[in-house]
Amino acid sequence: MVMKIVIKNGRLIDGNLIDIEIEEDKILKISENIENLEGKKVIDLKGEKHISSGWIDMHTHCFNKFKLYSDDADEIGYKKGVTVVVDAGTAGADTIEEFYNQSKGVKTRVFAFINIARQGIKSQDELSNLDNLKVNLLMDAVEKYKEFIVGVKARISKTVVGNNGITPLKIAKKASEEAGLPLMVHIGSEPPTLKEILDELKEGNIVSHIFNGKANGILKDENSIKEEAIKAYEKGVYFDIAHGKDSFNFNVAETARTNGIKCHSISTDIYQRNRLHGPVFDLATTMTKALTIGYEKEEVIEMVTKNPAEILGLKGFGELKEGFISDITIFDIVKGEKELVDSNGNKKIALEYFKPLAVILKGEYIEIDKE
Ligand SMILES: [Zn+2]
Repeated sequence: MVMKIVIKNGRLIDGNLIDIEIEEDKILKISENIENLEGKKVIDLKGEKHISSGWIDMHTHCFNKFKLYSDDADEIGYKKGVTVVVDAGTAGADTIEEFYNQSKGVKTRVFAFINIARQGIKSQDELSNLDNLKVNLLMDAVEKYKEFIVGVKARISKTVVGNNGITPLKIAKKASEEAGLPLMVHIGSEPPTLKEILDELKEGNIVSHIFNGKANGILKDENSIKEEAIKAYEKGVYFDIAHGKDSFNFNVAETARTNGIKCHSISTDIYQRNRLHGPVFDLATTMTKALTIGYEKEEVIEMVTKNPAEILGLKGFGELKEGFISDITIFDIVKGEKELVDSNGNKKIALEYFKPLAVILKGEYIEIDKE
């Protein structure tokens, strides 16, 4: 029999204290004071440590077959306070089975966007040859790995699509509609232009790398946002950070915020190189960057819990509620200076920062190694 866990005196991001009782995968009870502790593992946070639903990073690369963008799911997952990592289309129809099997061998929960290119991101130009897009193969894979695949991914920028313009985007959009899954679109250098891409998207689609500092990004000029980005935002397209090596710029993110455009989710686009050498490092660092440019703490936590769960349709994830999945992140908000660097080398000093301490994952309490 598995031992029940009771977390006492966890501090929610709104400041309130709660107790939570967990049995394996499920939250049994949430209350101000759980008293019957006999025979249960008790973790008393004494009001000193924060808790939230387990953090979800909805843009990562953790399929180890292709070395271009890959990492170990646990290195970017539970060891960084992230209980759910979502791979953003490293695998396609030809390789998703291998990825699925690989993901069974790790602790962290893994879900995947399936790339519209059948081989996945084997090279930088996966959509430059339209023969690589085989919707029937994608549909078969989605059917077979329903529980694993949460969306369809298309990288729509110059190096990836070659001379194909938005044709791969149109195919991916149709495939995502047929599969009943969200479409995630990566943006970068043109062609195609941002306008061509965003005009094609509809409510529920996701744009990655939304705060990139490239000429084809969302800034019209120093102080304002391009109309096509505002239009996309207003029609319900989700904006995701997906920081990455090249795709997060403080000024773009701040200008967007002051113009009323906030991202819906905070994600890293993490893989081994940008984890080890920056500027990404981990999800907590990207969360701290959002905090430092003016997002509220409550917003930051929602953007790595409730919002990604809703965007991806992950039922039972993302909130601390009775009957929900019992994944939890325990963390500190440390008062102290920390230097932050964006993808363009711009620096900011955070005055407080997120620091994950432990997780509860699949019913197991795991402390994170202290450096
Ligand atoms: Zn990516």
